Amino acid sequence: MSSQAWINLAYLAASMLFIVAFKLMTGPRTAVKGNYLGAAGMAIALIAACCEGPVISRLTSAGPGALVMVGIAAGIGAVIGGLMAIKYPMTGMPQMVALLNGFGGAASALVAGAELWNMTAAAAATPAEQIALAQLAPWTQFAIATALTGLIGAVTFWGSFVAFAKLEELPRFKQAWTDPNRHWINLGLALATLLLICGVCAYPKAILLYWLLVVVGSALGCTLTMPIGGADMPVVICLLNSYSGLAAAAAGFVIDNSVLVIAGSLVGASGLILTAIMCQAMNRSLVGVLFGGLGTTSVANADDVYAGKVKSASAEEIAMVLEGASRVVIVPGYGLAVAQAQHAVRELANALEKRGCTVEYAIHPVAGRMPGHMNVLLAEADIPYEKLREMDDINPTFPETDVAIVIGANDVVNPAARTDPKSPIAGMPILDVDKARTVVVVKRSLSPGFAGIPNPLFAADNTLMYFADGKKAILDLTAALQQG
Ligand code: NDP
Repeated sequence: MSSQAWINLAYLAASMLFIVAFKLMTGPRTAVKGNYLGAAGMAIALIAACCEGPVISRLTSAGPGALVMVGIAAGIGAVIGGLMAIKYPMTGMPQMVALLNGFGGAASALVAGAELWNMTAAAAATPAEQIALAQLAPWTQFAIATALTGLIGAVTFWGSFVAFAKLEELPRFKQAWTDPNRHWINLGLALATLLLICGVCAYPKAILLYWLLVVVGSALGCTLTMPIGGADMPVVICLLNSYSGLAAAAAGFVIDNSVLVIAGSLVGASGLILTAIMCQAMNRSLVGVLFGGLGTTSVANADDVYAGKVKSASAEEIAMVLEGASRVVIVPGYGLAVAQAQHAVRELANALEKRGCTVEYAIHPVAGRMPGHMNVLLAEADIPYEKLREMDDINPTFPETDVAIVIGANDVVNPAARTDPKSPIAGMPILDVDKARTVVVVKRSLSPGFAGIPNPLFAADNTLMYFADGKKAILDLTAALQQG
């Protein structure tokens, strides 16, 4: 068998590993195995790509220094990636995913640019270079794929960069960009990219057009992401993830690499499916999220919502309420992850169950900072999976719930989504905890959640606020319950 046949076989094996990995990653019990298989597939693809004839001949013709530089760059990349994965806390995962999406987009745009550069520099001396130059004719697969890679890669990199800044809550990026002219600016940039795509396809040898396309695409990436408000960020991250896959697939056509086309298409398609699921879960239209804030929104004044209406309680007072409860629903949110209170929550549930109380957990699809965040967190504390109930399943049971304990959740229990059509989160499905007989909210202050808006739940007649760190509060509550 020829060496190219072995390489193709390796690509096939890598692609199959990616597909099996995706399947395994759909369930929490098999996800880790899926991750390892995906990494193994990537390692196989990487080694096979390094063994490709054109890659070897390019590296050797560029001299031994080139190989050393590739080795050093790969080493630095591996160290940075490893450190980021170890150092980044689980609560910072969306930021990390945003960065990785962005780097993927940038890498694709650079690969396409380098390939274009390489071809335009070819002197057509060898037969291979003559074939390469023929590809530079107008409207070839190469020209179209190069233009698309440049555009999608640039939009992904800068869009992800803005998403990262928003998720890190950097001051200049925290607020959505609401300039009324933004739609015209976006339209102008979109038209400019269309013209430049046509330009690159028609005159692929004019390399300047390619880089101009990358610059305009970069501006479009920023202006499309800047208007998107807090609670819509999960949808944006899924979309950027999909873009990074599409950019990689297009780059695969540029350099004629089948495994890149397959892996990129898998990421692109799965990202789009996840985006659609997220849009459905958040009751958002994709167009609305894409063009940020098509409707008008206004944020209520915190003083008007809270003044003189908030009741706070001590651990002993709340324990007395819990002593009489026969059904308790625990609602975890981002603050539970920050406080690392999952084990304390399990102990509280045990104490309640010993008293004959039924305890369940209400899981909102975007609670925390990544899809499935709360499931992972509660699984860490060995909380049985059967007790975790999805939003649509548990919402009808809140009127029969004696106490709903909200721990570090805010946006996902904000009734303004149901009652205030001008709220930035209007229409987003929430956990209807306000319908429980008593609501206990554990958080440190009245400060808002990720969406940056006040929450009328904290001022409701049936709500008791317990101001403390999530873990300390739950430990104190359990102790008070056991003493009672
Ligand atoms: P929120 O961000 O709405 O609220 C979290 C609350 O936790 C804050 O109000 C904060 O209040 C409290 N908190 C923080 N630290 C602690 C602590 N140590 N102890 C106790 N409380 C604490 O969280 P939700 O889970 O309700 O909602 C998730 C939000 O994040 C949504 O807006 C969602 O759109 C967004 N998002 C979700 C992503 C996903 O994929 N799931 C990705 C990106 C964004 P205080 O400071 O007063 O304690």
